[in-house]
Amino acid sequence: MASSSRELDPRRLDVAAFSSAAGEIAGEWPAERLPRLLAAGLDTDDAAPRAPIAWRAVGERRVLAGAGLQPSLAIDADTEITLECQRCLQPMRLPVHAERRIFFVDGEDAAAALDAESENDVLASAPAFDLAELIEDELLLALPLVPRHERCPEPLPRAFVEDDPATAPADNPFAVLAALRRGPPN
Ligand SMILES: [Zn+2]
Repeated sequence: MASSSRELDPRRLDVAAFSSAAGEIAGEWPAERLPRLLAAGLDTDDAAPRAPIAWRAVGERRVLAGAGLQPSLAIDADTEITLECQRCLQPMRLPVHAERRIFFVDGEDAAAALDAESENDVLASAPAFDLAELIEDELLLALPLVPRHERCPEPLPRAFVEDDPATAPADNPFAVLAALRRGPPN
């Protein structure tokens, strides 16, 4: 028999029991609690504290196409992270939001097959699911591939600010570089 403290430990969540009970848990973790996300951020020299991670998980039994009524978790999480702007190379702090529903079914093979054919994420149920690991994965997936300020803070040389080389070929630093590499025209 699962104790309520076991059901509500986010590192060892009994998803089936949590979903049957329509459970809800929420909390806030210090950034150090999610080391992979911590490593993805810049160390800023102004020693600004890393933002905590606010998270929430709601359990619900819902119909998954092809599998009937199954346990599911709706998770959402918010934090802030400092990344390097890929245009001006200055640190930029940005909000990160993750939100997803995950279904849980019995067996790795069934989970893989349903995950492939469903638009929902499907995992194999486990008696002690690590919610922190999942939330960390989702926040990492929510990071921008190419972080850039909407407006970079410093006035920059025009060639560096221009991000569409097609509109300003003469200012494109790579075109200039390529021309230099080719050497002067004969
Ligand atoms: Zn920038």
